[in-house]
Amino acid sequence: MTKKLGIQTICTHVGEIKDEQFKGAVSPIYMATSYQFDDVDVKRYPRYFNTPNQESVAKKIAALEHAEVGMIFGSGMAAISTTLLAFLKTGDHIIVQNTLYGGTSNFIREEFPKYGIEFTFTNGYEVADFEKEIKENTKVIYIETPSNPLLTITDLKGIAKLAKDNNILSIIDNTFASPVNQNPIDFGIDIVLHSATKYLGGHSDILAGAVACSEVHMKAIWNVAKNLGGSLSDFTVWMLERSIKTLVLRVKAQNRNAKKMAKYLSAHADIKQVFYPGLKNHPQYALAKSQMKGFGGMLSFELQEGIGALAFQKALQLIKPSMSLAGVESTMLSPALTSHALLSQEERDSIGVTDGLIRFSVGIENKEDLIADIEQAIAKVKGKITKVTV
Ligand SMILES: *Cc1c(COP(=O)(O)O)cnc(C)c1O
Repeated sequence: MTKKLGIQTICTHVGEIKDEQFKGAVSPIYMATSYQFDDVDVKRYPRYFNTPNQESVAKKIAALEHAEVGMIFGSGMAAISTTLLAFLKTGDHIIVQNTLYGGTSNFIREEFPKYGIEFTFTNGYEVADFEKEIKENTKVIYIETPSNPLLTITDLKGIAKLAKDNNILSIIDNTFASPVNQNPIDFGIDIVLHSATKYLGGHSDILAGAVACSEVHMKAIWNVAKNLGGSLSDFTVWMLERSIKTLVLRVKAQNRNAKKMAKYLSAHADIKQVFYPGLKNHPQYALAKSQMKGFGGMLSFELQEGIGALAFQKALQLIKPSMSLAGVESTMLSPALTSHALLSQEERDSIGVTDGLIRFSVGIENKEDLIADIEQAIAKVKGKITKVTV
């Protein structure tokens, strides 16, 4: 096959294992943890990330991210921690975007001091905010765009150039956008990471991670990966393959729904503010449009003063007030009580994660039903307020 396949064909077919024995329509699952040593060129072993199923889905990830190679991990954090430890050693320095996924932030703050790796969280997300933190020993710049939970946009081309000019490696967590909406390698970013638990999995039922990059960088990552051992069971790898077949259909439906919800919430008297890169009044709408093919299924919003964020979420009947994101079902949560709970009130205020902020992971339900649920929840909370004050 040629490499110019369309993205939906990549999702459906790239990497698939032909069932030569029974001619089944889908890839068989190879669960073996032991392979005959004289029968294969590569010594296959699940912790070497090279079983037939692991290699098959790795090819899909590489194709989706326009990378030379890919690798599948046991979780997003396994992919993130392994990759960072592959390129950082004692005495090195990393510049990390503020704000970041909570788990990544904790990993850096808790583990790097043990290894003597220096880190700086930027004060903002402009290229200049990264540039001014560069030191002689800076080895990696790490970004997330759109960011969690305020959907700020970081300039991919600008960061890639800054990194290249200074001989620094650029790494992105591309989870929020998914490969359907954003391909950072096209803009010069070196390494792309995913929590495949989110859009790639898409059904809130598998934990997985992924990396896509050049062969040279992957060699360094693999060397550390086999030592740390964060690989994924072949059964779950197979479930990931199955999930990715519908990735484009799901993400496009979520893009459409999120845009409609962002518009609806923006016009709502009980909503103070909406953060969504696909809204023309988002401060970085033009930048988002220049580097994203779709604006994604994530948004956040603030309720007006007096409408409690927690009471509102408890009143929801269809939308689930739950952790995690990117499934086909809509979910909401308060970052201040969950992902950012470990930060102090001042730290949260400084990055705009207010107590009233709600993150909305928009699913594929009918928009009328989502709107009806939000309306009834607001009405219920406001009804309670009236009763108390009367
Ligand atoms: C969930 C998430 C992670 C961590 O992934 P796990 O699969 O839970 O280990 C990393 N980055 C982002 C942006 C996430 O949303």
